Amino acid sequence: MEKIGLGSAKRFETRYGRTLKLRLAAIETEQRKRQQCPYCRKLKVRRQSVGIYQCHSCDKKFTGPAYSLTPILIQEHKSQVEKKEQLEE
Ligand SMILES: [Zn+2]
Repeated sequence: MEKIGLGSAKRFETRYGRTLKLRLAAIETEQRKRQQCPYCRKLKVRRQSVGIYQCHSCDKKFTGPAYSLTPILIQEHKSQVEKKEQLEE
């Protein structure tokens, strides 16, 4: 995964620990990006609220995963779970 800074998590200053803030920053940058609309395929979708997305091109409002339509975060989580399972075997 690409290296990212603390970004939006800088607002917590010295609290909560570095690793935790890095993970939060990764999620927050992801959820604030423009995302691809599943209906018109344009990068016009913004996250409105938890799991709610709206396309500013075809004006459709729809539900989805809590943070992002792109499955990167889900994939990362899955690979971590798989690694853990391999270690337990
Ligand atoms: Zn659309």
